[in-house]
Amino acid sequence: MDTAVFRAWIVSAAGVIEANRDHLTQLDAAIGDADHGVNLARGFAAVTAALEGPAETDAPATPGAQGPPGASDAPANPGAVLTLTGSTLISTVGGASGPLYGVAFRRAGKALGAAVTVDLPSLADALEAALAGVQQLGGAREGDKTMVDALAPATRAFGKAIADGAQAADALSALAEAAAAGAAATISMQARKGRASYLGPRSVGHEDPGAASTALILAALRDVATR
Ligand code: ADP
Ligand code: MG
Repeated sequence: MDTAVFRAWIVSAAGVIEANRDHLTQLDAAIGDADHGVNLARGFAAVTAALEGPAETDAPATPGAQGPPGASDAPANPGAVLTLTGSTLISTVGGASGPLYGVAFRRAGKALGAAVTVDLPSLADALEAALAGVQQLGGAREGDKTMVDALAPATRAFGKAIADGAQAADALSALAEAAAAGAAATISMQARKGRASYLGPRSVGHEDPGAASTALILAALRDVATR
């Protein structure tokens, strides 16, 4: 998987988050403060803009203003795509999920380093790094009804598929399916982290919005990488 695939993933994720903005916000209305979809959609719109590199202006081009030929702020490798995604989410998405998604994408980007193509084991390492970052920052464990309940089983399923010798399409399907199942499993959980935990037992019976958005983002990766 090269830079174009990672770029396409993030652009596709932005589209899926925008398409599900109201759904995610409704999930957050039930057990939080009704801002998850709105915040994340705003953040991913900023990410899409950032991935385009420096904005074009209508003003006549000033010779040299864009820097030397070939110089561009558009990310040059998969790791840079993910790092830019994380940094942009940190600066544009408020609440709990902005910093958590930010650290996830930044740690994944750092794990990929400057490699220009990413194989399955490297992607598995990046997912592990993202999960570790989320857990380090947020302190949530599986069962606490957070995005960890989608990301952790997805990361595990991906690693297992690779260890079993799966090809990319099957490994990515395992990833996306485990994330979706993990998100669905949050419905019966009582929240122990984040805003939803204030509801105590009344948080049971609703899907966690962050787990739902994580499942959407990982499904976008499967769809883009296997098309
Ligand atoms: P806020 O709760 O600040 O309004 P959002 O609504 O954007 O932030 O995001 C809420 C989501 O963030 C939750 O559904 C949950 O998945 C995730 N979240 C909250 N706290 C944590 C945490 N400590 N660890 C992991 N994820 C968390
Ligand atoms: Mg919220």
